[in-house]
Amino acid sequence: MEDCIFCKIIAGEIPSDKVYEDEDMLVFRDIAPQAKVHCLCVPKPHFAALSEMDGAQAETLKRCLEKIPAVAQKLGLADGYRLIVNQGKNAGQTVFHLHIHILGGQPLGEKFV
Ligand code: AMP
Repeated sequence: MEDCIFCKIIAGEIPSDKVYEDEDMLVFRDIAPQAKVHCLCVPKPHFAALSEMDGAQAETLKRCLEKIPAVAQKLGLADGYRLIVNQGKNAGQTVFHLHIHILGGQPLGEKFV
């Protein structure tokens, strides 16, 4: 997608602090971290939201989820981490290329959620 910042990061047109990459996904550190460790797992195919996801994209997302535990281990998150997927305006989604926030490195509290 032409105007998608995450597509540009995946294409290497915008730099990122990359922690993992394979054929399905790119994981990089969030530019405005909200926890000691805050990364974004971005599936490479562009789709904005779960409601737009087709079958092939769902298979990619499944593989991303399967690989996140190994990435979390590499990030030192053996004590636990939180995954967040913001969907739409009320959730505060600002980048409309589906992504999974990976938050950890500290106790996150029991609220939210
Ligand atoms: P969301 O609000 O769920 O759409 O999350 C978008 C996230 O992308 C925010 O946490 C931003 O801080 C992060 N972000 C935006 N631009 C960049 C960038 N160039 N590199 C890394 N993270 C970014």
